[in-house]
Amino acid sequence: MTEGKIKSEIIMRGIPAAPGIAIGNIYLYTRDVPSAIERALNPGDVDSEIERLKKAIAKSEKELTKILSFAQAKIGESKSKIFEAQIMILRDQFLIDSLVKRIRSELRNAEFIVNNEISKYEKMMLMAQDDYMHERAHDVDDLKNRIIRNMQSTKLVSKFESAAILVSHNLTPADTMIFSRNAVLGYATDKGGITSHAAILSRALKIPAVLGLGDISRRISPGDSIILDGYSGNVIINPSSEQILKYQIKKERYTKFESNLAKFKSLPAKTLDGRKVELATNIEFEEELEYMLLQGGDGIGLYRSESLLFANDQIPSEEKQYKKYKLFADRVFPNRVIIRTFDIGGDKIAPQTIEEANPFLGWRGIRIFLDRPEILLEQLRAILRASSRKNIAVMFPMVTTVEEVIKAKEYIEIAKAELRSKKIKFDPNIQVGVMIEVPSAAVTADTIAKEVDFLSIGTNDLTQYLLAVDRGNDIISDLYQEFHPSVIHTIRHIIKAGHKEKKWVGMCGELAGNPLATVLLIGLGLDEFSVVPSVLPEIKKIIRSVSYSQAQRLASEVLRLRTTEEVRSYLRHYIEKRFTDILLENNNE
Ligand code: PEP
Ligand code: MG
Repeated sequence: MTEGKIKSEIIMRGIPAAPGIAIGNIYLYTRDVPSAIERALNPGDVDSEIERLKKAIAKSEKELTKILSFAQAKIGESKSKIFEAQIMILRDQFLIDSLVKRIRSELRNAEFIVNNEISKYEKMMLMAQDDYMHERAHDVDDLKNRIIRNMQSTKLVSKFESAAILVSHNLTPADTMIFSRNAVLGYATDKGGITSHAAILSRALKIPAVLGLGDISRRISPGDSIILDGYSGNVIINPSSEQILKYQIKKERYTKFESNLAKFKSLPAKTLDGRKVELATNIEFEEELEYMLLQGGDGIGLYRSESLLFANDQIPSEEKQYKKYKLFADRVFPNRVIIRTFDIGGDKIAPQTIEEANPFLGWRGIRIFLDRPEILLEQLRAILRASSRKNIAVMFPMVTTVEEVIKAKEYIEIAKAELRSKKIKFDPNIQVGVMIEVPSAAVTADTIAKEVDFLSIGTNDLTQYLLAVDRGNDIISDLYQEFHPSVIHTIRHIIKAGHKEKKWVGMCGELAGNPLATVLLIGLGLDEFSVVPSVLPEIKKIIRSVSYSQAQRLASEVLRLRTTEEVRSYLRHYIEKRFTDILLENNNE
């Protein structure tokens, strides 16, 4: 750790891209972009310039082949495909021919031509409204720089002596792989998100990573130490000794905890007296699927389809949506994926640049799409087309009234009729559910339940609307209380209403993944929990530790309590008495 002058602690928050905690000194990695300044060639130098280019390409291929075999050995065939793709580009005769042709005809140096030619492809890829293509553009950029570097015989330093947390502006897939040969404790970057290759590879390599920190590479200085928390996305620069101690304990507990929990992954989520609950996951990105399957989830209880709009503000075509939904359905088969129709507006991305005084109370979720049925129909057709294996359900967000549900169901019928007329297969009995996340829907849950196959409680919004507390407002975050008795009583009411109509009731709000709430929710009769993949084994362990009748007794006790604090301390006491390894601070308790 750093000695001498005490530096002030800086806490930053990024995207938790790969789980784990790292504590240590930093290694600042700066990757200079090699220069590709334009230089005129004498006609007599053309052949040797082409030779220089070909040698650089061959060297790049050799390097990547080495990285590929290292990756295959370390993380397996499928996750190493990215390097195969880079090698294929290098072998593309069309590309090589056009580079050679341009050097000859334009009499310009190879670095300039490579940079200019490959950048054209990159630009085209970046223009595509597709996050997959954007990722590919970064890979192509990496490849371009590799060729240029090899022409200049400059080398990247990819070694550091003692164990360190690597901090950089960005990480290429090759960087992520190569640095893992060193004693790298973790990755922290300015750029990149959960879907970047750096994130995917870090997860595969089991190296904790926090990406998308904005400007960490500029905020740290040589000799700094950091704590990197790949569970929460927090990074603490120059942590105090108390923080270090706290995180050391947390790290030890996690390590012990993860090895203890591994055995729960393949066991069913069943209470001691045999009540089986469904333990599904909330997913936003395709890249999370693998981790979720590894964690032993029973399918997907909430796919936030609006994540398809994150890369660009446009609604993807029906075909693109269909492909994505089909991929999810196939990967989790025979388990189910519940696709929530686009939930935009409120705190989520705006449908367009409209100004609303109260966006949370405004044009949001299903409200938008009942006004724009052509978009809803397109999405419903894509969902239905992907449903032919009968493991997809559709769910509507932000429902306020039963009329909205009836209307949305009419659109499902229209979409079905359209597909039927084109003889396209789909699941005619696709399950239809709604999120109960607005108080009016909660109060009238019985009426709504009559119209649907299931209800899924969205406690994130339900809490904010019940307590009139903006879920994203730090000033009043103390008042955002998921354990407020009003929330608990409302959950009970919704579950009872659903059961009265013989419909199953799930929960996909964050409360479902809070270990403090698990026994209470079982006792209230919840049929399905949909949680972030990282907490799956922990929640399963709690479910398997209690009988339904015990949980019911606990629930009736909790329903008698009057304040949030009473509820919390009752539940905390219950968990702490029985489990030494449940990590309550994971959930900000
Ligand atoms: C919720 O509101 O509880 C929920 C699961 O949906 P989101 O967080 O996406 O609004
Ligand atoms: Mg919500």
